[in-house]
Amino acid sequence: MKPPKCFSRVSMALFARVAVALTLLALTPVGLKAQTTSGDDGKLRIIVFGAHPDDCELKAGGTAALWAAQGHHVKFVSVTNGDIGHAEMSGGALAQRRTAEVQEAAKVLGIESEVLDIHDGELMPTLENRKLFVRLIRQWNADIVIGHRPNDYHPDHRYTGVLMQDAAFMVTVKFFCPDVPQMAKNPVFLYLSDGFQKPNPFTPDVIVAIDQVVEKKADAIWKIQSQIESLWATGNFENVVPVPTDPEGRAQRRRQVRERTVRRDEGVATKYRAKLNELYGSEKGNAVQCAEAFELCEYGRQPSADELKTLVPVAQ
Ligand SMILES: [Zn+2]
Repeated sequence: MKPPKCFSRVSMALFARVAVALTLLALTPVGLKAQTTSGDDGKLRIIVFGAHPDDCELKAGGTAALWAAQGHHVKFVSVTNGDIGHAEMSGGALAQRRTAEVQEAAKVLGIESEVLDIHDGELMPTLENRKLFVRLIRQWNADIVIGHRPNDYHPDHRYTGVLMQDAAFMVTVKFFCPDVPQMAKNPVFLYLSDGFQKPNPFTPDVIVAIDQVVEKKADAIWKIQSQIESLWATGNFENVVPVPTDPEGRAQRRRQVRERTVRRDEGVATKYRAKLNELYGSEKGNAVQCAEAFELCEYGRQPSADELKTLVPVAQ
């Protein structure tokens, strides 16, 4: 790109900056931010893919808060924008509302958040989306990648799992998406927990006690009000039960949300108590009340059981 001859020196400088900006823009895939890695500071970089703007927070919010408190870098990605997940509102207004909610939740947890502009209920495991996942993982320079298993009740969850698995080798392939350099080292890929049994049940390889951050996780979940007033208040998307505005009613709903969050994580700790005892020792393991569990995906880097314990915030 050559500047016109009539440009002054100031205009020349401006022209050069615009040319660089345009070049960078051309190299940046649509919908992706520019390079966000902050260099090698000795801290882990973790990226978590949830299908909707609440999945990462519910399944890994406590572990993320522990990682963040240790100075590690965590990013939650909602793969769809959640634009049909409410009883009374939908479309762009709901997508914007839910994006703002998880950004607030991320501030509470001390992490980053991004919501991809893909319609809720319409995620497909396409080549375009495979490239999207590969670019996001490379740009975050991830050491650990986490997502749903591909056997899950919701198609968006299933395909998030498929897309994560599809990326688990391709992130290292030089000439796949060459606009973002391939990773020197394949990350460790982990699955979020779920209760589905077929074709095989979730089997945790590592489990994290989150008792010390359970209030922080509940604070983060409280930010996701669209789901609290719609799905969680009724168990379906047919009615809205607005969050009360008076202090007493509001405090009561806040307690309900906290109890619901805690109950879910108590269920994880109870179900996988044997794994907790194996990792923490029986005295500590039996004392754990709330936990989040993760299963190692066999397609990425395979750390030993001892190394895996050092990668996740398992308190010693
Ligand atoms: Zn979901």
